[in-house]
Amino acid sequence: MQIVLFGSPGVGKGTQAKILSTKLDIPHISTGDILRQTVNNKTPLSIIAKEKMNKGELVSDEIMFKLIQETLSRKECKKGFVLDGFPRTIAQAIELDKIFEQLKLKDVKLVIITANEEEIVRRLTNRRACTNCGNIFNYNDIKESKICPSCGAMDSFYQRDDDKEDVIRHRLKVYKNTTEPVLSYYQNKRSEIYIDGLESVEEVTNNILSELKKTSGNKIIA
Ligand code: AMP
Repeated sequence: MQIVLFGSPGVGKGTQAKILSTKLDIPHISTGDILRQTVNNKTPLSIIAKEKMNKGELVSDEIMFKLIQETLSRKECKKGFVLDGFPRTIAQAIELDKIFEQLKLKDVKLVIITANEEEIVRRLTNRRACTNCGNIFNYNDIKESKICPSCGAMDSFYQRDDDKEDVIRHRLKVYKNTTEPVLSYYQNKRSEIYIDGLESVEEVTNNILSELKKTSGNKIIA
C-alpha cells in the first residue's frame, strides 16, 4: 500500500507514519528526516538546505525532486511506503504524480490529518528529539527520567531549531501559503481521507486504519 500523509507541521504526521510503517510493514519515508541526515554531509547543497530548514523555510523544489525520485525508486519502496512531508508545493504534487505514473502506482491513498493552529504551536514547542535515535517525545514525558524511552540514551534530548516558537509560527505561515493550496490541486483528482489529529495517538491510528480498510475493500491487515 502507498500512503501520502498530508497535514501541517506538528499535526502528528511523523508519529502516525512511524506507527503505520510498523503495522503495515512498509517503509516510512520522511523528507524532513532524509534532509536532516544529509545536512551532516556538509556539501554545498546540504549547507543551503540546513539554512532553509533552521529558518522554517522550504528547501527548493529542485533539490526535493531529486531526493524524492531517488528515494521512491529504491527497492524497499516496491512493497509500498508511507510518505511524510512531501508534497509541500503544487509543483511537488505535480512531480509526485509523474513519479507515481512512472512507477505505475494507481491507488495511492491520500490521508490528511487536521488540527488547529494553537494546539500545533503547543505541541511543537513541547517537542524534544533524541540525538541518538532521532525519535520525538513530549517534553513532559521525559523531563523527569531524562532517559530516552526508545533507545535508553541518557540526557540525549534537544529542541530542534525549527521547533522554537517564532520559527514554528513561520512554518505554519509557509504551510498556509504554499502547502495548503496543494489540497485544491488534489480535489477531484484523488480520493481524500480526512482525519482529526486532535484525538489520542492511538485513536488517530485506528481511525486512519479503519478508513484505509474501507477504501481497500478490507484488504489490508494491520
Ligand atoms: P519536517 O520534519 O517534515 O517538518 O521537515 C523539516 C524541514 O525540512 C521543513 O521545515 C523544510 O525546511 C524541509 N522539508 C521537508 N520536506 C520538504 C519538502 N517536501 N519541500 C521542501 N522542504 C522540505
